[in-house]
Amino acid sequence: MQGVGFRPYVYRLATNRRLNGIIRNTSAGVTIEVQGPQEAVQDFVQCLPAEAPPLSRITSFVVHDVPCNGDADFRIVHSHAGEEVRALISPDVAICNDCLRELFDPADRRYGYPFINCTNCGPRFTIVRDIPYDRPSTSMAGFPMCAECQAEYEDPLNRRFHAQPNACWKCGPQVELRDKSGRALHCRDPIAEAALALHAGSIIAVKGLGGFHLAADATNRAAVALLRQRKRRVEKPFAIMVPDVAAAEDICELDLAARSVLESIQRPIVLLPKRTPNSIPDEVAPFNRYLGVFLPYTPLHYLLLREGGFKALVMTSGNLSEEPIAIINREAVARLGGLTDYFLVHNRDILLRCDDSVVRVSNGKTHQLRRSRGFVPVPVFLKESQPSVLAVGGELKNTICLTKGNHAFLSQHIGDLENAESYGFFAEAVAHLERILEIQPEIIAYDLHPDYFSTKWAQQQSGAKLVAVQHHHAHIASCMAENHLDGDVIGFALDGTGYGTDGHIWGGEVLIADYRGFKRAAHFEYVPLPGGAAAIREPWRMAISYLAHHFGRDFLRQEIPFVRQLDMAKTTLILRMIEQNINSPLTSSCGRLFDAVAALTGIRQEVNYEAQAAIELEMAISCSDRQNTYSFEIMPDEDTWIIGTRPLFAAIMSDLTKHANPGDISRRFHDGLVKMFVRIAELIRQKTGLIRVCLSGGTFNNAYLAQQLELRLAAAGFEVFTQHEVPAGDGGLSLGQAVIAAKTISRN
Ligand SMILES: [Zn+2]
Ligand SMILES: [Zn+2]
Ligand SMILES: [Zn+2]
Repeated sequence: MQGVGFRPYVYRLATNRRLNGIIRNTSAGVTIEVQGPQEAVQDFVQCLPAEAPPLSRITSFVVHDVPCNGDADFRIVHSHAGEEVRALISPDVAICNDCLRELFDPADRRYGYPFINCTNCGPRFTIVRDIPYDRPSTSMAGFPMCAECQAEYEDPLNRRFHAQPNACWKCGPQVELRDKSGRALHCRDPIAEAALALHAGSIIAVKGLGGFHLAADATNRAAVALLRQRKRRVEKPFAIMVPDVAAAEDICELDLAARSVLESIQRPIVLLPKRTPNSIPDEVAPFNRYLGVFLPYTPLHYLLLREGGFKALVMTSGNLSEEPIAIINREAVARLGGLTDYFLVHNRDILLRCDDSVVRVSNGKTHQLRRSRGFVPVPVFLKESQPSVLAVGGELKNTICLTKGNHAFLSQHIGDLENAESYGFFAEAVAHLERILEIQPEIIAYDLHPDYFSTKWAQQQSGAKLVAVQHHHAHIASCMAENHLDGDVIGFALDGTGYGTDGHIWGGEVLIADYRGFKRAAHFEYVPLPGGAAAIREPWRMAISYLAHHFGRDFLRQEIPFVRQLDMAKTTLILRMIEQNINSPLTSSCGRLFDAVAALTGIRQEVNYEAQAAIELEMAISCSDRQNTYSFEIMPDEDTWIIGTRPLFAAIMSDLTKHANPGDISRRFHDGLVKMFVRIAELIRQKTGLIRVCLSGGTFNNAYLAQQLELRLAAAGFEVFTQHEVPAGDGGLSLGQAVIAAKTISRN
């Protein structure tokens, strides 16, 4: 068992049934002894796991008969020093229904109080400074409880028994409205004033659970445009917060699975298909069929949305483009003062930043795109115990992972390690997690890429054994670990960039892998990446790279819109870079292939956020014709297969001269990829007998590709494993690194 609220829950369960006995934490878990009439005991045993509080998690449950010892009551017994297992710290979760009812009940003493919480809800992870988890080691330390709150806190029958952030109007934190320079604006109801300003088109920085949000009225086109301009975020979609499920349903298509994820206590941002038409202007998520939607999760959010009567608010992280989210009031004024008109702040400190989580739901299953608030620090349970490892992740969408026994704790989303603020956050997250989880890693795992910040950081650490892990091997191991797989699997690791063992940039890899090692069974053919990182920002360069690779300069004579719109001076320069091998590393990246196809079909020539071209190519898919698919060459090369793209590009060019629409081209491309990958899996099965396939890597954020490939592989007789607990993208990399490193060291 882990999580808070369990002992008082059991106390209530037992005393309600007039059972006597004890509950005690031991090093083996929780021990409960009950005695009383047989029916009551049986009922107790049945209800115990079924009605356990939302923040607890029972991993196993064993019942034995023991002799009666004549207990006269039911007691919570404190354990002997050293014997007690430290209760694991819970994630921050959404306000529960009981607290929500009190929040809007004029007769309740906490009516309208923006920090209402109880044992079953509220902040945890982001207010913890140290362990053990009790009030003095949280940011509630500065708020001594009033007599009424204290009485609730001490009463085992009360919903607020040992609820560390317990507070009320009298004794707890308060909200304040400030202007953009941080000066307090004295008003009777700061939340109502903030709502008025939002209605007038202002932008407000709202202090939340794991950081600041920038809020704007999502139905106000001008306000959304202003937010984009100030935040320097040109087209990357914004998430919107809606007051309830009905409001989400007005805007988006919602099936039962999506609905339950939306309402879950983790309250992630859920990507939902937009209804057409809907009341949200296109500027919120341009060129996208989906909207990121979430429900309020703090009492403050509920008050703002309900009292303000908003249909939807844009709630985007309070930062400038890719910097970490702001968490401290003073820092927020410095960093966000130029972006916002007002600050809606409070005086409960956020000790650790934690961004909103993002998920997509397909075929009733959840896929994590960003695993952060609500999920962290709940561990991923490994199949077996292993030595303690710190795995430092990759470069983009970084997370770290710490293991202890069979628990793998992934950090919150740390982000892209490309600026000084992110480095600071990275080091802070490592230190904080090591402290609150009491883990001293024996092994540090890092990516093979010599230039990653995380790699350099790992190599500077002393006192632990170091293990470098190949990027795509880590993706597949991550998928294997969360699915508790052992032995060899076929792994499709598809993404944008990962450092290969041959020094080239990999990304379209089919591996035969276990935790100890891997063999590269197939990969896309290498093409130059003209200008390195610049080619990632400018997909048209990749289209030229592929076309020149297959057809030389002849492609320039094609009568297609892509060629006609090229800037010839720039094109000549790129061709020279490719031909003379200047700053043009080789890549087998799947992401870059998507970029090239997106550019060639006229969908996107330059991107202003990561994977934009691939996302828009997916969004363009039209399913009007399902007949044709593009084909690839599968060429044997020693003991691997090289996937050739010449037939693909020849077919796209031919379609373009016939004025085929981009939606059909995109569909033929996606379906062609699926068909080819299934063929590769069959070839590997013929040779090795393997039938288990793991799918991982950022390309699987593409819902169409992921769904189709899973379906077709299953139809061809494969057992397919995908990722649900951690992201398939680089946010899940650290889990794979951690298990590989442990196995590597134990083998040596
Ligand atoms: Zn509650
Ligand atoms: Zn109080
Ligand atoms: Zn990757």
